[in-house]
Amino acid sequence: MAEPRDETTVSLSYKETLNLPVTNFPMRPNAKVDDPLLIERWKREGLYERAMEHNKGKAPYILHDGPPYANGHIHLGHAYNKILKDIITKAYRMAGYHVPVTPGWDCHGLPIELKVVKELTDHNPVTIKRACRLSAQKWIEVQREEFRRLGIIMDWEHPYLTMSFDYEAATLRAFGICHERGFIKRNYKTVAWCTSCETTLASAEIEYADRKDPSIYCVFPLTAASCQQLGLSPEDKIGFLVWTTTPWTLPLNRAVALKPQTDYALVRLDDRLVIVGDALVPALSALLKKELTIVATIPSDRFAGVTLHHPFIAAQTLPIIFDESVGTDEGTACVHIAPGCGPIDYELAVRNGIEVYSPISSTGRYTQEILPTELAGLSVVEGQGWVIRALEAAGTLIHKGVIQHSYPHCWRCHNGLIFRATKQWFFDLQHRNLQDATLSAIDQITFIPPHGKQSLHATVAHRWEWCLSRQRIWGIPIPALLCQQCDYALLDDQLIERVAAGIAESGVEFWDTVAITTLIGDKRCPHCAAATWIKGTDILDVWFDSGISHYAVLATSKPSHFPADIYLEGSDQYRGWFQSSLLTSMAIEGAPAMRSIMTHGFTVDDKGRKMSKSLGNGVEPQTLIDRLGTDGLRLWVSTISNEGDVVVSETLLKNVEQVYRKIRNSCRFMLQNLFDFDASKDMVATEQLLLFDRYALVNFAAFHERMRAAYKNGDFTLVFHSIADYCTTELSALYFDVVKDRLYVEVADGFERRSAQTVLWLMLDGMTRLIAPILSFTAEQIADSYQHSWQGSIHLQPFASYAALLAEPHTNEDQAIWAMLRSIRDALMKLLEEQRAAGTIKHSLEAAITLSIGSDYAQFHDWSLLKKACGAEKSPDKLSALLQELCVVSQVTLVSSAEGLQATELTGVTARVSVAPGVKCPRCWRWQESTAADGLCDRCRKIMTSLSAPQERSEL
Ligand SMILES: [Zn+2]
Ligand SMILES: [Zn+2]
Ligand SMILES: [Zn+2]
Repeated sequence: MAEPRDETTVSLSYKETLNLPVTNFPMRPNAKVDDPLLIERWKREGLYERAMEHNKGKAPYILHDGPPYANGHIHLGHAYNKILKDIITKAYRMAGYHVPVTPGWDCHGLPIELKVVKELTDHNPVTIKRACRLSAQKWIEVQREEFRRLGIIMDWEHPYLTMSFDYEAATLRAFGICHERGFIKRNYKTVAWCTSCETTLASAEIEYADRKDPSIYCVFPLTAASCQQLGLSPEDKIGFLVWTTTPWTLPLNRAVALKPQTDYALVRLDDRLVIVGDALVPALSALLKKELTIVATIPSDRFAGVTLHHPFIAAQTLPIIFDESVGTDEGTACVHIAPGCGPIDYELAVRNGIEVYSPISSTGRYTQEILPTELAGLSVVEGQGWVIRALEAAGTLIHKGVIQHSYPHCWRCHNGLIFRATKQWFFDLQHRNLQDATLSAIDQITFIPPHGKQSLHATVAHRWEWCLSRQRIWGIPIPALLCQQCDYALLDDQLIERVAAGIAESGVEFWDTVAITTLIGDKRCPHCAAATWIKGTDILDVWFDSGISHYAVLATSKPSHFPADIYLEGSDQYRGWFQSSLLTSMAIEGAPAMRSIMTHGFTVDDKGRKMSKSLGNGVEPQTLIDRLGTDGLRLWVSTISNEGDVVVSETLLKNVEQVYRKIRNSCRFMLQNLFDFDASKDMVATEQLLLFDRYALVNFAAFHERMRAAYKNGDFTLVFHSIADYCTTELSALYFDVVKDRLYVEVADGFERRSAQTVLWLMLDGMTRLIAPILSFTAEQIADSYQHSWQGSIHLQPFASYAALLAEPHTNEDQAIWAMLRSIRDALMKLLEEQRAAGTIKHSLEAAITLSIGSDYAQFHDWSLLKKACGAEKSPDKLSALLQELCVVSQVTLVSSAEGLQATELTGVTARVSVAPGVKCPRCWRWQESTAADGLCDRCRKIMTSLSAPQERSEL
């Protein structure tokens, strides 16, 4: 310890002459307190309303909000979706578009109705509807505050609700347009039915329980013509062997289904030949306890066009159909198809153009239309025994047993269900080639990610019907009047419009209360002339309600917002909202409702399991807010690529925390060094900036343009990663590290410091606006700190523009020089590090570098440009000074020969690091040869003189 000077006293007094950083902007966010205060302020300042009006008259950008269901608190999936929408709309608003965003809520439907019905004793439809309205309204209020709490800016005071009277009327009018154009049909559909409750059941209302049923095997004989077609002799008594556990449905049989491209065996069984799936012969042999001889193996395709006799109804001839769903693991692989008695049978029948025959009453009895007529009036339970006796009499029963199996039951009365065809309303997808037109329209839509196009295309192409009617209460009534005499359904444009007008006045309750004569006078049934009408009780599928929002919301806004620029939902909406919106917009407007569709995945835990109540692995939005702050939650949203699952994992959350800290600290560094900078007075013109500052600014400007493009493309992950990288590698590790010296040491209002401050201010301003769509709270707080004259919320300000700077002729060269400087610095830092490790130097300022750049250096051209820009021919010191600053060392000497120098990682760049000669300046720590007793370097001496000079003068 050779230095006897009291360094503390000296450096303290010098320290007072440094421009040390100052800011009130805290290192850590206080989100719990600050975020709600900011939301209050946004409300007070009318930010929500102003944002909707902002840029009015400029090009609009319309994101059409898919309505969440108004039932329960929002979960993480809702938060994720709405934040994504908020990021993209904020970014477009800042890019100069007019971006009104109307949030929506889906209010009708089963979950609300079921909950309300459980709590009510009065089950009058009007009472139920009113209670449903109240329940939905309550949750809308709750969710609205929860969404607002996420910093989302939408027109919260003017949402669209599918239960508002206007919207309800619009839904019915949209239905009316579809009806007028011929898309609406009434047809049979097979549904699950409880014969004791006399109602259909939704799949959620079906319970499964074990029960015993008959298990029978019977023969459907081949017709003589088909025997001939197959080259078999009819005398052999040949038929398909069919297995069923519901013999009562056999009179309703309309076909036998086989599996395509599968081998079937022709088997000798006593005095006859039966056809069964080849794979099932051993099981059948075991069941019948008989040796079975396979006479021939026939591929199923050879049975195309074959016809059969019904096992006991002589008049009935039946077709063979083919379907992949036919199983070869039980039964006979020859499946009895009764389209009126099973959902799969129904689907096969519709696809194959086979009659949906279902003469079964609501109480589970055969009606007068049944054949054989002896069955009329019997219950289906009585039908079981009757059919078995009929099979025995016809000699077609092969085996009779009992099976215990899982069977659907009613959740209310616990009786076994049957399937029964009832008249339902359908949207005909084939009418006017709607399905094909929709498939072509999908090609015109832009998809993010692109593979969404195939998904939506496949979903629409594979859709084979759209059943519009539901036997429920809480929804839009299908306002048909049914003739009690003949079941004719009266539904015309006039009737629909009358009901729509009534609903616009008093809601869907209108249908329950209006008198039929008010609607149609004394009109008689055009089919049977009776005048006994009853109101239909079906309501519309809720996907129709939300699907026509393009008609009720987009098309009615002035000016019209149809079509929307973007629909943005989870990828499960291909089957749901995207599809119902697309089909109805094609039917009503003749064009798709959206120009682009952006989708995202589902929220999953760190093991990749979908979050669900039953697994108990859900994460509440509030849990993430408590840990990360609201902006942390928003930043998390931006980390997730819309290609994959929405993951919540510890690694990801840690990463988000780290990135947030990085961005915040970078902004804080800039704020700290701008405490005495007034942008209106102290700015240095960009063409006068110090070279190094100018290069940094040009580089930032180019980065900024890339980020704006990423926002425009909805690539928020790129924004997240790029901003994090930029803060680390370009700012903290490079620019900030280099300019620290100038900011702290130089004269406060001198050119050198103002040049760096100008760049910091421009970067801070650009960065704050750039992060505002994601870090909406933090950006507002930063703006408060550096925008000294208040310019309104950051969310009503545009992105920064560097167009003028980037248009200057040499910006490309400037960027190349910046990249070169970065790589030279990295290479020299490694040599410095070696010296530090060897103990030769501690701080980089203790070092001097001798540097040679050879013509074999890959970026020699850029190096020449830099030399030219520095005017190095005339004043070589300028280039040395720039390099000295770049490496934060005390001296850089440029030499032409590489002799005695060390190679670096860059070919052609050689250098030697040595201990800087001289003494350490006590003020700035730079080393310089000095004979002065105080050891001050030349720079600091000048500064100290200038600082003390005015003081002396003032004392005079
Ligand atoms: Zn029941
Ligand atoms: Zn009639
Ligand atoms: Zn100094």
